[in-house]
Amino acid sequence: MKTILKGAKFYRDGRFETGDLAIEDGKIVAVGGRVALEADDRAVDLTGCHVLLGLVDVHVHLREPGFSEKETIATGTAAAAHGGYTTVCPMPNLNPAPDSPEHLEAELALIRRDAVVRVLPYGSITRGQKGRGELVDFGALAGEVVGFSDDGR
Ligand SMILES: [Zn+2]
Repeated sequence: MKTILKGAKFYRDGRFETGDLAIEDGKIVAVGGRVALEADDRAVDLTGCHVLLGLVDVHVHLREPGFSEKETIATGTAAAAHGGYTTVCPMPNLNPAPDSPEHLEAELALIRRDAVVRVLPYGSITRGQKGRGELVDFGALAGEVVGFSDDGR
């Protein structure tokens, strides 16, 4: 059984084109032109709609650990998924700031537990994410973070 997205605009070879997109077993099996429906296929009319690859936001604030009254990894990643974002990169304005492997692990454990999209966190540049003073051990964090920032400092 396939799901056929009918009449969608999708991006290919540097431009948008209109056509059908067939999905079977979670994979795209046909793109472009018209895909004929078989008896057990499901058609979804997407005339006038765009179909995009998953979006990436490289500057988000998920606020956990430390500020869950503002946002959580669960709510922030649910909102991201609703908007078409499949990957987000949260800033290190956290408590504790991800400035050591131990502090980063507190964030990573929450990500593993609650995230519904891919989350690639930033490490902080300075201890405590203070924007000055002692630098973090970049090598100790590099394997687990997408980059480093002292966002807002
Ligand atoms: Zn920011």
